[in-house]
Amino acid sequence: MYLWNIKIVAGTLLLVLLLGVLYSSIFQSHRFFLVFENKYISQLHRNGPQPDFRTHDFHFEVPDHLQYKQPSILQGRTDVVTVTPWLAPVVWEETFDPVLLDSIYRPKNMTIAVTVFAVGKYIMFLKNFLETADQHFFVGYNVHIFVFTDRLDDVPQVKMAVGRQLTVRAVPSYSRWQEISARRMEMIQILIEEKLHNSADYIFCLDVDSNFHNHWGAESLGGLVAVVHPGYYEVDRSRFPYERRPASRAYIAPEEGDFYYCGGAFGGLLQEVHLLTKTCRTNFEADAKEGIEAAWQEESHLNRYMWINKPSKVLSPEYLWQDFKPRKPEIHIIRFSGVIKNYALIRPNV
Ligand code: UDP
Ligand code: MN
Repeated sequence: MYLWNIKIVAGTLLLVLLLGVLYSSIFQSHRFFLVFENKYISQLHRNGPQPDFRTHDFHFEVPDHLQYKQPSILQGRTDVVTVTPWLAPVVWEETFDPVLLDSIYRPKNMTIAVTVFAVGKYIMFLKNFLETADQHFFVGYNVHIFVFTDRLDDVPQVKMAVGRQLTVRAVPSYSRWQEISARRMEMIQILIEEKLHNSADYIFCLDVDSNFHNHWGAESLGGLVAVVHPGYYEVDRSRFPYERRPASRAYIAPEEGDFYYCGGAFGGLLQEVHLLTKTCRTNFEADAKEGIEAAWQEESHLNRYMWINKPSKVLSPEYLWQDFKPRKPEIHIIRFSGVIKNYALIRPNV
């Protein structure tokens, strides 16, 4: 009986000891893991590669003693809305100071890439586009214009200012204008991947059948930039020419949508425009496989994209007017405008 008691006590002691060892080993290994993690993090901070943050958009340093008009938060444009409900600026004349903006952006020595397509007879618009771009578009900045054409021999010789360059890329022609227009997304996506990812900061993708008339500069820079279409900014969204068939990946319901944006001018940071063009291209092609083409091709897909991925800067219709439209009182300046053209004469199909 006595011996039996001793056995129980010894067994219990052994069990407690074993449990203790087990507990402390788990606890220690956990602690060890934590210590290891902390060490790893602090080493990363000390010795690891410094993250390559882009500060173009968010750090606004100006020279001391720069002279410019005193800003007001009480007085300004009252005839137009200058901010969206998601707090993106809407850029109108008199909402920005170009001198101030240039003093912020010029020292950053950025490169602005431009894509413009001149396929088939649209080559006739290229000369005026390039000449007026030289006079008004990002004057004083590094600008690299990429012309996509199937008529390499007809690209005009245009004198460009210092810091500006032009590269011509050969593209196939398609038998339908819808295809020529829509394929731009794919070719812009490829251009960014192959060539631009390390050689430009921002990109703007513009229609060739348009001329610059006035200043278009740093006020237009942003992560994702869209232009409000001049034809639909007074119209209820149910009447926007969005794609209305739910079968399409560009579909937007009648009670949805913010603005109707132009397919003829959009832009932003390279990574943003890359994602936009890739998404629109993928959706356009997936639709095509199912035998559907959105009402306004890539413009419909762009509008769908911008509905989900809100632009961080919205440009007013000053940034893409149409020459045939009489100027409205809220349009104090026309910066870029589509020319009047005879569709039957210039497009490969009607
Ligand atoms: N485009 C082209 N060749 C064509 C049709 C279109 O190069 O045969 C390009 C050109 O850059 C043009 C853009 O696609 O500016 C969009 O087409 P368009 O200007 O005819 O569309 P709209 O502005 O009239 O809606
Ligand atoms: Mn056009």
